[in-house]
Amino acid sequence: MMRIAAYLMEDHLHADRRTGPGRLAEVDLEATVTGPAELTLAGLTVRDGRGDDLFGSADAQAYVFDPASGGGPLAGPEAEHQARGFGVTNAAYHAARALSLAARLLDRPLPPLLIRIGPHSFPGRSWGGGHYRLPGAASPPEPDLLAPSGEIHLGTGRRFVEEHDPRRPRYFHAPTHNRAIIYHEVGHHICRHTADFRANRLSPPHDQHNGKVALDEGTADFLTAVLLGTPDIYGWHRGHIPPWDPRRRRLDVRWTTAYLRPGSGQAHANGTVWASALWTARERVREADGTGFTRSLCTAMSRLGSREGEVSEEQQRRSCFSQLLRELLAADPAIAPTVTAAMADHGILPYGLNSELRAWTQGRTASLFAQRPAVLP
Ligand SMILES: [Zn+2]
Repeated sequence: MMRIAAYLMEDHLHADRRTGPGRLAEVDLEATVTGPAELTLAGLTVRDGRGDDLFGSADAQAYVFDPASGGGPLAGPEAEHQARGFGVTNAAYHAARALSLAARLLDRPLPPLLIRIGPHSFPGRSWGGGHYRLPGAASPPEPDLLAPSGEIHLGTGRRFVEEHDPRRPRYFHAPTHNRAIIYHEVGHHICRHTADFRANRLSPPHDQHNGKVALDEGTADFLTAVLLGTPDIYGWHRGHIPPWDPRRRRLDVRWTTAYLRPGSGQAHANGTVWASALWTARERVREADGTGFTRSLCTAMSRLGSREGEVSEEQQRRSCFSQLLRELLAADPAIAPTVTAAMADHGILPYGLNSELRAWTQGRTASLFAQRPAVLP
């Protein structure tokens, strides 16, 4: 057990309704130091690969680093050291929190997860994002062998958070300091080992599909909102983007299947349709005094990913909003009527392809009604 610093839930929204990185607090973490810049927890390893000695010189039990406004290339060496140390502990704390929620809801732990901080950043070409990777073709390509059960890579940061409030200090946007980015990427690990949208379990371990479908992105955003307790998941670093812009990825905007954009490269924007529908359903289930919506979602994802079959067929089936909705309705019949109505408000029905749902919501077809089976399976 060690004492660390991390960002927790905000006590209040700021006057301008924009959120910050969170409230700085000291918490206990069930972790062991397993390298100069590496912590290991149950089912989780977090490693900063930039060659620093973050934990060697620290007091045996105290690893309370200062966030130092994210550090960054303009900060001094001590501030950057503090910011990196804080990044490891903050990422470990929040990834462990997300994994333990999933284990509780699934009644089983997920396969081990490795979080690496620093890959894909080179002098003069830094990276400010995060991604989830499995062994297999990827863009950008992975120079190292990857852990078979999945890895999260977090960049070192590329720019400052856009800040319009002159009273607040400039903050260098280190992904490890951003709870939403950590939760979103762990969300992909949860998806991989439940719904497995690319049917990777049916493919060779060294030849996994790294592309993400809209359901993957949307479910990861929804789990982020549950863990953060707010539908404005990227309110801190995307607070300058208007709420109605898809890049803001707010879940309390009623995105419908009419906004689905065909073609590749739209998984995040299209995922917001699914994420906002899940959020509406969860809020309505709670208003009706129901509980366990997120547990039902986890059950539904496990069921969606449990079927055997031909890989490309399963990939097709598992990319359909309607298929996951069917599993969600079957997971808890008590909340099914509420969930059905909420999903329909977002143009999601328990039958039809995504393109058919889009055409239906845009009013270009009425034929989906004719397809409706008499009794849902
Ligand atoms: Zn993602």
